[in-house]
Amino acid sequence: MILPIRTYGDPILREKLPLLASHEEVLPLIQDMIETMYDDDGIGLSANQAGYHYRFFVISGNVFEDGRPDSVFINPGLLEVSEDVWDYEEGCLSVPGIREIVYRPRTIRVHYTDAGGKEQEEELSDLAGRVFQHELDHLNGIFFVDRISPIRRALIRKKLKELSKKHTK
Ligand code: ZN
Repeated sequence: MILPIRTYGDPILREKLPLLASHEEVLPLIQDMIETMYDDDGIGLSANQAGYHYRFFVISGNVFEDGRPDSVFINPGLLEVSEDVWDYEEGCLSVPGIREIVYRPRTIRVHYTDAGGKEQEEELSDLAGRVFQHELDHLNGIFFVDRISPIRRALIRKKLKELSKKHTK
C-alpha cells in the first residue's frame, strides 16, 4: 500500500522520534514503506515521512555497493564521522521541488538494529553514507535544507513558506 508522504511544515517532521523497544513493532510496516519510497522514486524514507512515530527508516538496495536488498535500519545512530566531507545535490520526498547542495562526512561508522532484531555496526561511504545521514536527520526532526548555507536558505525561504502553508490552518 502506498502511504501519503508528509511534507515540509507537518509537525511530525520536526519531532525527535523515541527509541523503539522492539524491532518487531516495525516489521508489519516495512513493505508499505518500501513501496511508498519507490512510488515516489526515492532512495530512502524515514518513518515520520510516512506518518509513523517510530525510530526507523528504509534505504533502497540501489545505493549500496555490496548488493544487499532494500534494508531497514531500526534505532540507528552514528558512532564516528570522517573529517573528509563532500558535497552533493540532495532532494527529499517531503520537500518537493527543492534540490540543494549539502556537505556531509564521506564515511561514517553506524549502528542500528536490523529487521531480524540483530545489532549491527558497520562503515558506510559515499551515497550509502549520505542517505543514512539524511534519513537519520529526519528521525531527529532535521531537514536537508537546515544544513545549507544561509544565502541559499534565504533564496528558498519563499518556497519553504509556500510548502508550510497547507499545514497552518
Ligand atoms: Zn528526506
